[in-house]
Amino acid sequence: MMMVVIYWTFDTVASGQILTRILITALVMTYGIFTQSLINSRNEALAEKDRTRQQLIQAEKLAALGAVAAGVAHEVKNPLAIIIQGIEYLKSSLGSDAGLLDASSRIEKSALRADNIVKGLLGYARQITLKPGEGDIVPVIEESLSFVEHQLKDGQIRVEKHFAPDLPVVIMDSNQIKQVFTNLFMNAIEAMPEGGALGIRAETAGIPEGRRHLKIVVSDTGVGIPADKMRNVFDPFFTTKVSGRGLGLSAMLGILRSHHAGINIYSEIGRGSTFRIYFPAHQAVKK
Ligand code: ADP
Repeated sequence: MMMVVIYWTFDTVASGQILTRILITALVMTYGIFTQSLINSRNEALAEKDRTRQQLIQAEKLAALGAVAAGVAHEVKNPLAIIIQGIEYLKSSLGSDAGLLDASSRIEKSALRADNIVKGLLGYARQITLKPGEGDIVPVIEESLSFVEHQLKDGQIRVEKHFAPDLPVVIMDSNQIKQVFTNLFMNAIEAMPEGGALGIRAETAGIPEGRRHLKIVVSDTGVGIPADKMRNVFDPFFTTKVSGRGLGLSAMLGILRSHHAGINIYSEIGRGSTFRIYFPAHQAVKK
């Protein structure tokens, strides 16, 4: 194309048929631009098709995993409840034998840990009954922060909070949402072994879908998530940690879905990760 233009420019100067040459040049250029824009839109369409296909695969994978997770969790839930009740009863009748009390406490701790895993799985599979109510997000965030107070202090992590005024209220099960934030904060802390900053922002957003949303942004200055791992982080049992369980984000996704809330992640290796959560606003402005 460039060559044609250069050649014709020379040729034009030599022959003197300027108008014809300019017209032909313009035609060739227009055709070139048109062809290029066709190629671009075709490439965009192909990329969009690939994205949709990936989303469908992910949705199918999540649905299949959810079914398995729910099945296993149901089977384990009742025996666990009996074990936990049994230990409580035993502890109350053990008297003051320190050795026995210590052993029973350790059994209780392990059983409660297993119970948490089961609850996480049920949360992921959306099998937890919500107790929703109208509420402010700020006290929920503050309480979740208090759960990780020690880890923040030990890990030399400063908290940078910014809560915009007049935040909308949301319909939520505050216990479930506390679980979401506690998990996000724990992950952020674990991603910053050398210390760093945990950012928490709450503001009103008009997106997604143009509807009023309460947007919460949780960010860290940690290790980041590699691009090839990004699509796995919500899978149950996906973990990159030695003692991880890989249930935090998957359970969180289940809880957020039951609140009709959306989530997206942005991460850069070595610079940190940002989790944005969008809750549909319940009413205009909180009183
Ligand atoms: P776990 O914390 O037990 O590994 P999660 O489901 O909470 O399980 O997280 C899954 C994986 O996602 C983690 O093992 C880690 O690789 C990645 N991840 C989650 N949050 C972060 C974060 N803030 N920074 C870096 N990686 C993260």
